Amino acid sequence: MKLKDKVAIVTGGGSGIGEAISKRFAREGARVLVADIDEVAATRVAKEIQESGSQATAATVDVAHKDQIRKVVRDVLASWGRIDILVNNAGVGGEKWFAEGDESMWDRIIAINMKGTILFTHAVLPTMIEQKYGKIINIASAAGKVGQGRGVVYSATKAAVDVLAKALAREVARYSINVNSICPGPTNTPLFAQDPELGNKIAQGIPLKRIAKPEEIASAALFLASGESDFVTGHSLLVDGGITML
Ligand code: NAD
Repeated sequence: MKLKDKVAIVTGGGSGIGEAISKRFAREGARVLVADIDEVAATRVAKEIQESGSQATAATVDVAHKDQIRKVVRDVLASWGRIDILVNNAGVGGEKWFAEGDESMWDRIIAINMKGTILFTHAVLPTMIEQKYGKIINIASAAGKVGQGRGVVYSATKAAVDVLAKALAREVARYSINVNSICPGPTNTPLFAQDPELGNKIAQGIPLKRIAKPEEIASAALFLASGESDFVTGHSLLVDGGITML
């Protein structure tokens, strides 16, 4: 098992990519905190992990709220005593054309995707520094590399968390803390399940001619969370079927 006895927090762990990462980490021996704003979803994922014989707990948290994050971090430390891995995965999109956008929607996307990543990372860092060990993984996006129409502010937030990982990696390398990001391309999460036609259409523009499975993003996260990547930091890992070819 690649994550035996590690303690991991996965934000947005109640659905899609976060669910796949939570389940994969748990199968590899980690104790996983499935942290999501959706209590029902987080509880379902944690329960499914427990029923499969692995360890997980659900927590309801809005990553845009510092006080809620601080409470979750305190609770994890009280129960499990350490935090080895943080996956900043919670994210939202849902933009229309930029010209039709409004400030409240942009504020929400920035608060969850960007500020949420900053706040959660800041909350776990003192523990990781004390441990002289930690793995932080930001789920960015291929959209943050090349830009996405009808996702202008979304793309900007994803570029921000991508470079945030690089910048922080420079600061905390001295404590053996690795900070990396993953840039998924279009991935088969509930968004595409609702509209398979959209998935098929997008797949035509991808060199590998399909969209990703959430488990394929989880494989990349497992690599970056495990000892297999101890000498990898400040890296931005594209898992996008070749759509950006950067
Ligand atoms: P999803 O909607 O299936 O899951 C997102 C989860 O985040 C949900 O469970 C939701 O409840 C939770 N969440 C939303 N706001 C939150 C908040 N304020 N606090 C805590 N949790 C919150 O989405 P997904 O497709 O699995 O996306 C996961 C991440 O991957 C996102 O950051 C997204 O931007 C990124 N991503 C997705 C794709 C894709 O094609 N699906 C591609 C590139 C990047």
